[in-house]
Amino acid sequence: MDCIFCKIAQGELPSTKVYEDEELLAFKDINPVAPVHILVIPKKHIVSLATIEAQDADMLGRMMLTIRDIATEQGLDENGYRVLSNHGPDSGQIVDHLHYHILGGRKLGPIG
Ligand code: 5GP
Ligand code: ZN
Repeated sequence: MDCIFCKIAQGELPSTKVYEDEELLAFKDINPVAPVHILVIPKKHIVSLATIEAQDADMLGRMMLTIRDIATEQGLDENGYRVLSNHGPDSGQIVDHLHYHILGGRKLGPIG
């Protein structure tokens, strides 16, 4: 499958890893829009939130806990941070592999 994030998850393309376990990977965004800009992905190919299935619920729950832990490790918990996931053209999704952005380290503007 020609998916850039699958290739990163499988180690076929390089990334600056922040966290990795059997089912999840977190790495720095190649084009950061904030001092901390980390992407968290499932290693399994899922296109977006719009295509998650009930069988993914446990993994997705662990993903949320991992996002929280990464944000804390990055020192963002006191001043705050933003977590977002895009689906489809109106959102500006450019990589069709589910990912959450963790953004922080500066005062962020309004959403939208
Ligand atoms: P979205 O699909 O939610 O719009 O965002 C995709 C994000 O992936 C963008 O912020 C973009 O900078 C990032 N990105 C795209 N290709 C790569 C890559 O090869 N490596 C890394 N680390 N980030 C990437
Ligand atoms: Zn993929």
